[in-house]
Amino acid sequence: MNQPVLERSAMDEAVRGSLEAVYRRALDIRAGQVADYIPELARVEPEGFGIAVATTEGRLWTFGDAEAAFTVQSVSKCVSFCLALELLGRDRVFEAVGVEPSGDAFNAIVFDPHTQRPFNPMVNAGAITIAGLLREALGESAEATLLDRFSRAAGRPLGISDPVYVSERDTGHRNRAIAHLLLNVGALKAPVEPALDLYFRQCSILVNAIDLARIGATLANIGRNPLSGDYVFDLAAVRDTLAVMFTCGMYDYSGHWALDVGIPAKSGVGGGILGVVNRQLGICTYSPRLDPKGNSIRGLEVFRRLADDFGLHAFECTNYGSSFMKGMI
Ligand code: GLN
Repeated sequence: MNQPVLERSAMDEAVRGSLEAVYRRALDIRAGQVADYIPELARVEPEGFGIAVATTEGRLWTFGDAEAAFTVQSVSKCVSFCLALELLGRDRVFEAVGVEPSGDAFNAIVFDPHTQRPFNPMVNAGAITIAGLLREALGESAEATLLDRFSRAAGRPLGISDPVYVSERDTGHRNRAIAHLLLNVGALKAPVEPALDLYFRQCSILVNAIDLARIGATLANIGRNPLSGDYVFDLAAVRDTLAVMFTCGMYDYSGHWALDVGIPAKSGVGGGILGVVNRQLGICTYSPRLDPKGNSIRGLEVFRRLADDFGLHAFECTNYGSSFMKGMI
């Protein structure tokens, strides 16, 4: 396509202006409720709102509370899945967990009726199974290895929120019930407590929007952190991870998301949404007010607008926006 070549700084400003307009429009949205299944999450500032966009060449745009810390929650599921694929291989992973969208809530107590396995690794049952596989492969070093990958992908050392972890552990009766059912169908091995503990810990990793955008950019950059040059994730595992994020990453909203936004993404009840534009961008929105499916309401709106304004949808017929970005990265 023949497009005028904008000078780099002018391009940078043009992108910043468009992103800022999206941020400002979403500021007025106040619908939804913060997660309150544990007191630590119920206490978060509901108004918090940040956006970070990181490119595969290391550029970064931030808006609002992009440095506010929040727990990664279910966004962790894409990183743990990617790591399990690398360490245990596809055959072992897909023996334990499927790749079909469940169409049910993230914490549903339901397995694929044909296989008796969790539907996919992006819902709780599948993620607890993946945690079991990581424990199987790595033993007690599983948590440190997972945290190390998170940190290398984000480009800075990350840690865990102890109060959130303790609450998740002490009140996670539903997840504990899911783990015992996984044991019953043979997806988890006994004892289930170490797998659950790893799952609760990974949900409690503290990040900000910049971290998740950088992790997204590392995935977009097929596993190599654009800033450090560190090869963080296995190439083939990244492909599989992005594919499952595309079809299953937004819980029972995944179909609509594919239609409206059309990029691989993962959502968490801490208020984060991580989106990946393959070979181009990692995008993170943070706003803790959620819809009934557990997705950040401002986050959904921001991603829908970005997809439209920048032509990010994988099947955008003109792909004007992607070409537009290409001049810069
Ligand atoms: N800790 C939460 C749970 O296991 C994570 C769920 C989520 O972010 N959707 O229920």
